[in-house]
Amino acid sequence: MTSSYDLIIIGAGALGTFHAYHAAKSGKRVLLLEKDSYPVGATVRNFGQVVPSGLAGRWFEYGRRSMEIYREIQQETDLTVRSNGTIYIASDPDEWTLANELHDRYQQLGYTSELLTKAQCLINYPTLKPDYVVGGIFFPQEMSVEPELMIHRLLGFIQQKYNVDYRPGSVVIDAQSNASGATVTLSNRQQFQAERVLICGGHEVRLLFPDVLAQAGLVVSKLQMLLAEPVAGLRLPGNILTGLTIRRYEAFQECPSYASLTANTPEHLAELKKWGIHILFKQAIDGSIIVGDSHEYAAATQAEDLGYHTQDYINELMLNEAQRIVTFPLTIKKTWAGFYSQTKAEIFEYNVTDSIRIVTGIGGKGMSSGAGYAEESLRQWLS
Ligand SMILES: Cc1cc2nc3c(=O)[nH]c(=O)nc-3n(C[C@H](O)[C@H](O)[C@H](O)COP(=O)(O)OP(=O)(O)OC[C@H]3O[C@@H](n4cnc5c(N)ncnc54)[C@H](O)[C@@H]3O)c2cc1C
Repeated sequence: MTSSYDLIIIGAGALGTFHAYHAAKSGKRVLLLEKDSYPVGATVRNFGQVVPSGLAGRWFEYGRRSMEIYREIQQETDLTVRSNGTIYIASDPDEWTLANELHDRYQQLGYTSELLTKAQCLINYPTLKPDYVVGGIFFPQEMSVEPELMIHRLLGFIQQKYNVDYRPGSVVIDAQSNASGATVTLSNRQQFQAERVLICGGHEVRLLFPDVLAQAGLVVSKLQMLLAEPVAGLRLPGNILTGLTIRRYEAFQECPSYASLTANTPEHLAELKKWGIHILFKQAIDGSIIVGDSHEYAAATQAEDLGYHTQDYINELMLNEAQRIVTFPLTIKKTWAGFYSQTKAEIFEYNVTDSIRIVTGIGGKGMSSGAGYAEESLRQWLS
């Protein structure tokens, strides 16, 4: 047995790392264990869009709080936070109605949003195709990060400032309760003791408590993503979300006209919707353009059914729709797939014992709401 801690966290994705940040900041001695040499899960494969505007219910509040947390940390270390805002471009009257309804809702909640006419959208985003744009809803306070850099720098920050003991390359194969808390065992048989153990293993459901996770109703989503070459002179500020996103995100589902929108899906969107495609753009710091994404689903216990490949057919569908929206060329230099777990219950939280807890299944909202959610999750568990 080596050292002993107040809290051991398993998994250094966004959820595990933000839990480690909050716990260590409140004075806990934290050990953070990651199985890979550096995180390569959902947390580094995403857009890095921090968009509370798309979230519903308590997740919107966690998203708002997450933005404060990103800003607080950004003042001390460069997490790559850029506050360039989020725009949703409506492409037909139904989507525009929803944008207006969401604007009214956020006015009541005191969350700043601006409705932009077609002309204003085209002035602010001159590379949008005029035929596509009906209007837009803009959230000036929203932000983006570079996912890989963000998590790498956050891990460095919590080690340096809060003495988090971060150990990559540590595959946890067991966690057991005992009289003084819980013991964690690595694949090399090294053991660690803590008062409590938190498991944030992302979509990995087989290594730890597979029986619990098999019963959890978790579904894994596979997302295809594209990275296009920089285009000379192109400046694409912030998060650019489009009509299919309005048709997909939870916040719009809470709007009064959402039911009639789903009843009127235009024919040309049917194949895109079949593959869970909505088109989002984000320009990375080096000028390249991230475009996505699609969604395929399988039970978490059968995630291999989703395949290890990316499908050209899906990439083509995304590219064609993207070129219906923007005028600049998309010359693809990389494609990849990302995976996350999700559940109908919004997140999976489960106390295996008094001292061992699992938190996973945050789905597609972890970069937007994970920082704020982790704060509340710890407050409730440790109180
Ligand atoms: C393509 C894509 C695009 C997305 N875009 C956005 C976006 O723009 N905005 C947004 O808000 N969200 C987005 N998301 C969602 C977001 O990325 C996830 O919600 C979030 O990253 C989940 O974080 P996590 O920590 O739960 O999982 P992960 O990032 O998967 O982290 C889990 C970690 O646990 C480790 N682990 C697992 N088991 C063990 C073990 N036994 N021992 C040690 N370590 C272990 C894994 O190695 C991994 O590093 C996107 C996701 C994808 C895939």
